[in-house]
Amino acid sequence: MYKPVGTLILVITHFYAFGQDSLQFVLENAKRPSVENFYIKIDDDQGHSSSIPISVIKGKENGPVFSIISGVHGFEYSSIMASHELLQELNPELLSGTIIIVLLSNPDSFYGRSPFVNPQDQLNLNRVFPGSKTGSATERIAHYITTEIIARSDIFIDMHGGDASEDLLSFIGFYNNKGQQEQTEKIKKLAEVTGFKYIVSWPYNLQKDQPAKYAFKQAVQDGKIALIIEAGKLGNVQKEAVNMIKNAIYNMLAELKIYKVEKKVNTDFINMNKQTYIKSEHTGIFFSDYAAGDSIMKGDRIGLIKNEFGELMNEIKAPNSGIILYKIGTPPVNVGETIMCIVHNQ
Ligand SMILES: [Zn+2]
Repeated sequence: MYKPVGTLILVITHFYAFGQDSLQFVLENAKRPSVENFYIKIDDDQGHSSSIPISVIKGKENGPVFSIISGVHGFEYSSIMASHELLQELNPELLSGTIIIVLLSNPDSFYGRSPFVNPQDQLNLNRVFPGSKTGSATERIAHYITTEIIARSDIFIDMHGGDASEDLLSFIGFYNNKGQQEQTEKIKKLAEVTGFKYIVSWPYNLQKDQPAKYAFKQAVQDGKIALIIEAGKLGNVQKEAVNMIKNAIYNMLAELKIYKVEKKVNTDFINMNKQTYIKSEHTGIFFSDYAAGDSIMKGDRIGLIKNEFGELMNEIKAPNSGIILYKIGTPPVNVGETIMCIVHNQ
């Protein structure tokens, strides 16, 4: 775990409840250095209301805006606890710039212990970007993040992990946007200093007028330096994952010369730029002796699906050799779901 260099100063925290303009108000009016904590209230037309906790850390010196959002999925606790700890640790005296932390992007999913979706409208926040100002509860949160957080960010980090049912190998991810070489190079460079052993990249072919669906893809579409952190699994708080996430954030801040901290970089990283998704053709009970992080060879029998009576419905064989990036880690499986994602180098 990183300890910031220097002495901790006393910061005065105010609680704002000014509605949707308060982020701009804080950014423009809070003194340097300071930490401001406040809630943004987002109401829809169905009587739902979300109170989103946001912190703005204004550094001693001026500089870029580095935004971290966590809790887009409210059951991905390692990333949520990492942002919680970062807020306690970060010292504005050591900061040149501004850090915005959205501590819970989807608070009803967190407090409702709801994996994947916001219980208010059953939508997955990470499928509705850029969102809508007049839409349902989740769409309005996405709209707020797009127009208020992403729009004001130079760097945007979306933090996730394995949800309640997901066994996951921790990694840092980015879009390999060949149409924007300069932006992509900056993003790749940041990914390589995070300390994560596995760097996953996806091809990017999104047009400007297409919905990005995902928060950090929205930020890429909007020209930002944007990455996704995935750490922790099966809806648990894993101390190792929390520390890995915090280390990645400190390393990126150090690389960008925004924060006075020493980098703890692992240069022994592995690039994974090809993904194979295995979808289930059945609804049933999933059995597998494999775990995320295991290496597999093409043709290996990686799992079985049985019905409730124990009768075999499907035997799943690996279509490619590679490493299991994530897989279903609990018994239920539904038709059409991704059972497993295998990554490898092209
Ligand atoms: Zn997630």
